[in-house]
Formats: sequence, structure tokens, C-alpha cells
Amino acid sequence: MSKKIFGLVMLLAMLYFLGWPVSAEAQAKKPKIYISVDMEGIAHVVNAQTAAGQFDYERGRRLMTAEVNAAIEGFLAAGASEIVVSDSHGNAQNIIPEDLNEKAFLIRSFPRPLLQMEGIDSSFDGAVFIGYHPKEGTPEANLSHTIWGTKFAEIRVNGKPMSEALFNAAVAGHFGVPVIMVCGDQHVVKEAQENFGPVETVMTKESLGFLSAKSAHPKIIQAEIRQKAERAVQRLKEMKPYMVAKPVVLEITFKNIFDAETTAYLPWVKRIEGKTIRVEFKDMLEANRFITALFAINNRT
Ligand SMILES: [Zn+2]
Repeated sequence: MSKKIFGLVMLLAMLYFLGWPVSAEAQAKKPKIYISVDMEGIAHVVNAQTAAGQFDYERGRRLMTAEVNAAIEGFLAAGASEIVVSDSHGNAQNIIPEDLNEKAFLIRSFPRPLLQMEGIDSSFDGAVFIGYHPKEGTPEANLSHTIWGTKFAEIRVNGKPMSEALFNAAVAGHFGVPVIMVCGDQHVVKEAQENFGPVETVMTKESLGFLSAKSAHPKIIQAEIRQKAERAVQRLKEMKPYMVAKPVVLEITFKNIFDAETTAYLPWVKRIEGKTIRVEFKDMLEANRFITALFAINNRT
């Protein structure tokens, strides 16, 4: 081998070990995914499975963890680099940590300032809602409520009634993060498609009533979640953040008149009707923290 060719071969070998050539794909930033997980929209979680210590709760936890794992597998297959999972139901300690895919980080327990969206920031490329349920008062909607089932009759942002999915999407939107996949019953899926643009959806159940639903076998649902998760990351460029106008006017109608009365003791809270208060906030983060404070003061779990 001539000296010239030997030199060229050595140069190429050096460049190879230094990581050249690097494909355009490898150079692109790998997606970072945030998953907020509730429990009422998980397939076959229909009744007491949501409540720690009650009938079949342990099954509910396993089904919840399995749906999250299915999504994580799909995100990883599509090249996601980091996945953060936020357990956002009840005491926020439902997902079984040792059964969760080991590539994901898990946020557990309340209280925390952003409640169901704790840990989200602008470094994420997509937000995902798993196990989500319809808002309080939706007819034929399995386990429907809005954030605090025993207290809140309705939450409105800038006049629009909010489900947890809409509210939390607006929190993600504050950081410019689009909602890329939503899993829940037929109402949740319809709302996501109407509000979040080209979002991927998985209908985990057909709600029949407040305490009943029809679902396919868990394996079928989980396979669909995995497939849609992978596609959601592949279609990331099409996704758009869900934004609400600022300032944010938050109105809460309570179920109990005393809650409106006592919340309105705070000087910046207006009581606009017997059971309804109104507060104006700079942005969705402030609005979220206000709801979290109301919730956390009353619920030490
Ligand atoms: Zn919920």
C-alpha cells in the first residue's frame, strides 16, 4: 500500500471513530415526551378500581401501568430520547414503579405546583394524556368529573367549560408543547379531535353510564396505544399547541355554596354568583397553581 493511500485510510478510520459520517436523522434532536396519566379512562377501570383499598384496585393499577408501558414502547420505537411519566390520579401513587418501563422517569405523589402537569416545560416536544375521562356532567360518561369530583361542578377558562384534558393541554400550550396523543372514552376522543388538531387518539372504552363501559381486551387496546404512540412521534411536525388567550379568566362553579363563599374571602377572588367565583390570572400556570392550592389545602394524601 502506498504511503498516500495508507494515510487516506488512516484519516477515514479516524473520522469514523470520531463519529463521521453522521446522518441527518441522528443529528436531529431526539424527541422528549411528557405523559400525564389519570386512571378513569383506562380500559376496564370502570368503578372501584380507581380507589386505593377498594375492590379490584390492584388490577386497576396494573392495567394503568400496562397502558403507559405500551405508549412508552411506541415512543421509544419512534426514537424518543427521554420520557417523563406523571402519575396524576388520586394520591398520584398508582403506577407500579418497578413494573414501569425502565427507560422512563416517574413523577409521584401530591401536592406539587402543577398538579397533573407537574414536570412539563418547554424542553418537551409532545404531551400525552393516558387514562383521561370526560368532564363533570357529561351524560353517559364513565367516572366523569373535573379535577375535584366532590367540589367542582364546572371550571371555565375564558368562558369555555374545561375538561381536565383541555385545561392540561392549555398548560402544555403555555410552554409551546402540543398534545400529540390522547387515550380515553368516546367523549375524550371526540373532544381531543375537535380541539387539538391532528392528535392521535385511542378509544379505550365506550362509556355506557357513569359506572359502566364496554372495552376490547386489554392486549388489543395496548397494541393500539403502542402503534398510535409511535405514529404520534413520527407526525410530531404536524402537531400544534393548544393555546388560550391571556390574561386567563378562570371561573369555578362549586357544588357547595360554602366553598364559593369562603374562597371569595380572598381579596382578589370575585364571587359572581352564589356558587361561582371568578379570578383573572396572568397565564395558565398561575390559574393551575390556584386550583392546586385550593385542592392541596383540603387534601393531604
Ligand atoms: Zn381526573
